[in-house]
Amino acid sequence: MPLLTRMLNAPLSIDVRRGAVAALGDLLADKRIATEGRVAIAVGRGQGDQIAEHVRPSLAACDVFQVDGGTVDAAVDLGTKLRGGSYEAVVGIGGGRTIDATKYAATLSGIPMVSVATNLSHDGICSPVASLVHDKGKGSFGVVMPLAMVVDLDYVHAAPPRLVRAGIGDVVSNFSAVDDWLLAAEECGERVDRMALTVARTAAEALLHQPGSIESDRFLTVLAEGLVLSGMAMSFAGDSRPASGGDHEILHAIDQLYPDAANHGELAGLGAAFCYHLRATHLGQGADRLAEILTCLGRHGLPRFPADIGLSVEQFADAVLLAPRTRPGRFTILEYLGLDKGATLKAVEEYVQAHGG
Ligand SMILES: [Zn+2]
Repeated sequence: MPLLTRMLNAPLSIDVRRGAVAALGDLLADKRIATEGRVAIAVGRGQGDQIAEHVRPSLAACDVFQVDGGTVDAAVDLGTKLRGGSYEAVVGIGGGRTIDATKYAATLSGIPMVSVATNLSHDGICSPVASLVHDKGKGSFGVVMPLAMVVDLDYVHAAPPRLVRAGIGDVVSNFSAVDDWLLAAEECGERVDRMALTVARTAAEALLHQPGSIESDRFLTVLAEGLVLSGMAMSFAGDSRPASGGDHEILHAIDQLYPDAANHGELAGLGAAFCYHLRATHLGQGADRLAEILTCLGRHGLPRFPADIGLSVEQFADAVLLAPRTRPGRFTILEYLGLDKGATLKAVEEYVQAHGG
């Protein structure tokens, strides 16, 4: 009989709650990730030391390494240190940058990685992709999926609110990514993985309609789980397709042209809203989704318009124009429409006029 199932690459365990970090040692032992306690801990500069001290009592023996930002160099450096010791696993504790660098280092050194997120700024906390800075800018690198995922809500409550809210934009951008995927299937015959699509979209749908905000544990749990599900959707699909469409192309273009204008999740949400404006005005689809996304972004104080991130209409239009070149081979609403400079500027002006007043 043929085996009519599929194997999915997902973490062994997902733990989202207050106090989760203190139970890290038990998790590593129970799940047989580190039976002898030979664990390396990677922390970022800043709050890293404090967290390492919090974790230490639950681990018999561990070495703590500082990760110097989210760069390829820092990740390679950590990878070398990991190879130097005979560690059973590495635990990356921190925000997106530290976790991305640790994922890459773990992949280089061939040991499993446990992700402990202290903020919820983007879906890289539990995905098979690491976004790292190199000589020529920022790049996305395929890495091994974290073996276990821990989100300690005590740390998330203590994180800068801006870094926590940003994740909302990243999860909500799944709507736009998924619609781009379906468009690519229709126009270019691209294969759609319906399982991955369902997981990505359901995560966004749950968050969109979740009352409350980042002050509440319940909301944070839906957000954290939404980010984890987005990461899993990418793992199921084998690339970032279910969580990255024209929205993320615009994000990457803004990152290139105006570094530090805003963070990943903030830009993803803004990019998704603009992509839905294009759909609504050029395809006659998605106006209701656009309204929902704008309401959601507004309710959580996330940027919705170019001015919210300090860009003029012209600057934003330049980014939209550059966007398709940031991700060659990915077909989205931007590639489908292929708007020239004049038409792009007009579209951005219309977007701001129609929704920004
Ligand atoms: Zn993203």
